[in-house]
Amino acid sequence: MAKGKVSINEFYCKGCELCVSVCPKNVLKLSETKINEAGYNPAEVVSDDCIACTSCAKMCPEVAITVEKIG
Ligand code: SF4
Ligand code: SF4
Repeated sequence: MAKGKVSINEFYCKGCELCVSVCPKNVLKLSETKINEAGYNPAEVVSDDCIACTSCAKMCPEVAITVEKIG
């Protein structure tokens, strides 16, 4: 299965959680400790199980997610 590296631009994230709910591998979670400049808890990567399906990137209304295929 493909492996991916997902990056989130926390500056643009508005904490809507759409990426969290769409990820089939539970790779993403809203941060419980960080708050970005706009006042939202941004999404963060919590596991390395990403399969590069790109669903999170397609779903993100802020285009804050980049997915790189690494294998
Ligand atoms: S690319 Fe797919 S598996 Fe990887 S974090 Fe996004 S939704 Fe999850
Ligand atoms: S879908 Fe985009 S804006 Fe919404 S929580 Fe995820 S990264 Fe943030």
